[in-house]
Amino acid sequence: MAAEDARPAVLLNPIEGDPTDADSHIGGPMLWPIDEDWPSCDADGEPFVGAVQLYQRDFPELPFPDGADLVQVFLCTLDHDVPGPDVRLVWRDSTTVFELIEEEPEPSAQEELYVPTVNVFEPIRYTEHPSKISGGTKIGGWTAGGPVTFACPECGEEQRQTLSLGTYEPSGDNVEWVFGEDGNLNIFLCPKDVRHPIKVHID
Ligand SMILES: [Zn+2]
Ligand SMILES: [Zn+2]
Repeated sequence: MAAEDARPAVLLNPIEGDPTDADSHIGGPMLWPIDEDWPSCDADGEPFVGAVQLYQRDFPELPFPDGADLVQVFLCTLDHDVPGPDVRLVWRDSTTVFELIEEEPEPSAQEELYVPTVNVFEPIRYTEHPSKISGGTKIGGWTAGGPVTFACPECGEEQRQTLSLGTYEPSGDNVEWVFGEDGNLNIFLCPKDVRHPIKVHID
């Protein structure tokens, strides 16, 4: 097996828990400052739902830009023209957040299949090859449905499979969201600048 096929990956291995905004989690409270507008979907005006947040101290494998130590993943939990939820990433410096939003806005309607249970992580670090790919929620590695490539629409650089949300977890403890045909929602980022437009690929 070629060495360049070997990619580091972190299986997040979610388990039900009771995280705070100071923890990495799926479906828990987001670290969101009181003086910043909560993100909302351009297509339907509904507030996004805080889906995942990952701290650098827990997951240094993520490509945090300078000055950020937290990445937050938001979903608009309605279907869009491209099937699946809309996805927004926020890279944040958690040390600059002092006063938190009192209550997270809730959308007036949601597709239940995009709403996760509340989970913390028991991460498993491993090396992934395209011939043997995990379908669970993970950082890095390969696209579970088979390798695909996308170019950054801003600079043309080949985007990198960075975060994948899985319908099925290898542990069997699914977080009860469903993407595509029981697949994964894969988030591709530009290696030059993670704030360039992202690509979401459901397989
Ligand atoms: Zn939307
Ligand atoms: Zn780019």
